[in-house]
Amino acid sequence: MGVHRKTRNLELVLDAFRDTQEALSAHLLMDRLPAYVNRSTVYRLLDRLEDDGVLHSFLASENIKFYALCRGCSQSGHVHSHAHFQCTSCSQVVCIEQQVVVPTLNQGRVDEAQVLLKGQCATCMQ
Ligand SMILES: [Zn+2]
Ligand SMILES: [Zn+2]
Ligand SMILES: [Zn+2]
Repeated sequence: MGVHRKTRNLELVLDAFRDTQEALSAHLLMDRLPAYVNRSTVYRLLDRLEDDGVLHSFLASENIKFYALCRGCSQSGHVHSHAHFQCTSCSQVVCIEQQVVVPTLNQGRVDEAQVLLKGQCATCMQ
């Protein structure tokens, strides 16, 4: 992976993602980080991790950008077209590990598919 200089802040951000099954917005991520990690650092690290193929981002409800860990991506590009699920009660967002069947075009090509599924998570169903 193209993460060279492992800073303490970078490790904190990665740990926050590893500690959860959920995707996190920058806002949710900051709630899980120590208060001394400032906003601009968080945004910079998120951008960098996305460029490095460690995190992918997508838009959830209200166009809020969420980030989640990648599997099998690298600096040379992101390789996934999985869907995301957002609970409409608690707003929790997760990656759905099944690939979405992306329609092919007669002309042109699809580079990216963003599918957001909405419903109730297991906790909210109880
Ligand atoms: Zn990726
Ligand atoms: Zn829920
Ligand atoms: Zn995902």
